[in-house]
Amino acid sequence: MSKTIVVLPGDGIGTEIVEQAVRVLEQVNDTHKLGIQSQTYAFGGASYDESGEPLTDDTLAACRAADAILLGAIGGPQYDKAPRDKRPERGLLRLRSELDLFSNLRPAMLFPELAAASSLKPELVAGLDMMILRELTGGIYFGEPRGIETRDGRRVGVNTMVYGEDEIRRIAVSGFEIAMQRNKRLCSVDKANVLEVSELWREVVIDVAKDYPDVELSHMYVDNAAMQLVRAPKQFDVIVTSNLFGDILSDAAAMLTGSIGMLPSASLDANGKGMYEPVHGSAPDIAGTGKANPLATILSVSMMLRYTLNEPAAADQIDKAVASVIKQGIRCADIAGTDSSANETLVNTVQMGDAVLAAL
Ligand code: NAD
Repeated sequence: MSKTIVVLPGDGIGTEIVEQAVRVLEQVNDTHKLGIQSQTYAFGGASYDESGEPLTDDTLAACRAADAILLGAIGGPQYDKAPRDKRPERGLLRLRSELDLFSNLRPAMLFPELAAASSLKPELVAGLDMMILRELTGGIYFGEPRGIETRDGRRVGVNTMVYGEDEIRRIAVSGFEIAMQRNKRLCSVDKANVLEVSELWREVVIDVAKDYPDVELSHMYVDNAAMQLVRAPKQFDVIVTSNLFGDILSDAAAMLTGSIGMLPSASLDANGKGMYEPVHGSAPDIAGTGKANPLATILSVSMMLRYTLNEPAAADQIDKAVASVIKQGIRCADIAGTDSSANETLVNTVQMGDAVLAAL
């Protein structure tokens, strides 16, 4: 069966890194006979330059019709003066909300050879491989009432942390499904000792667990989870949590790895359709210099094959190729010099793509 991917290179280094990721996708497409067709559209600032809109109706329609979306990155200082509703970020927020991408997957992994890039001791993080699932479209960032108002003569700021049972159920299902494809351990992070919204969260997660007897479920308060992440991060397989807690914990986990150019991410809807992108932005400071590391985007392709297209063998092949390239000491500038014992070869964006293709 043929599958359609929409490719949105975006701005800055987006075009450079996506070019390499598409080469990798094409190679596994051939080898594994996946029948993937891809179409490329301008998005973000590039689309604004072309049409005055960061996300056109055509691009949105193509994204809706596609099985998955591969995004580079968007944005740049040249768009700071664009009208607020035409800025690249607006296109991205709209795309996420139009496609109802409520489940945000942020893996934190650290190849053993890059352990010295972390701010933690190498033995705590070498070989780290965990996944944080953050609920992306509900919770305190969207809850009503909200605002700044005057009560009894003083100004107060108000936000509301609210979750419907249905919203908790679908992110919990997403968490269990991901855990089933990994090491079958799910840790639900909440603050059920203080917050009623967390009490309901925990109740619903426990109910969903009945459908996943093979997954070992645990619960952790968010303050403890923050401590455990920096004390012994390798204890986690999959964490599932709300929008606010996930926002904070996923950034902390990303920093454990010390290398932003290596981290992929995904946002999924209820049917597993997803948008896949590196965690980093468009890096205008290095755009056009060949210094951009394409590995986060290449690993995003691997996630797409695993979590939306159901092609784990092709995903495994990409992951192994990237691991092998790192093992050979091949480094873009952002991950160079982290391992004094390694015999490193410094490469540019295209050469890194070449190395992954060779390893494939
Ligand atoms: P950034 O992630 O683009 O860059 C931060 C630093 O990391 C820079 O020094 C950059 O050179 C470096 N870096 C990032 N990716 C790299 C890679 N693949 N290889 C090597 N080095 C890399 O964040 P920023 O500078 O705060 O933002 C730049 C632009 O990107 C802004 O317009 C911002 O709005 C946008 N942005 C977009 C997204 C997205 O598209 N999802 C996410 C974050 C930021």
